[in-house]
Amino acid sequence: MEKFNRSALQRPANYFKEQGLKLTGGGEWKNALCPFHDDSKPSLRVRLDTGSFKCMACGAHGGDVLAFHMQRHGLSFKQAAKDLGAWEAA
Ligand SMILES: [Zn+2]
Repeated sequence: MEKFNRSALQRPANYFKEQGLKLTGGGEWKNALCPFHDDSKPSLRVRLDTGSFKCMACGAHGGDVLAFHMQRHGLSFKQAAKDLGAWEAA
């Protein structure tokens, strides 16, 4: 039985850093250059507790690092989960 193991996902702070995002700002929502459009000022807001992200310019958004990974790399849910080491095939 295959399944998605959410607890195996990286912590959002590590994940976003690994994806090359430079996070700034001191509040709940950090700012970063948006990788989903040609961004010249930090339009992307991300939360490090949940991995939620939302771009104020292009509208890209999602609720966790898995959603970010799917959109950024054009992957299906399963492919993204595998890529992030969060897919268990038992
Ligand atoms: Zn954007």
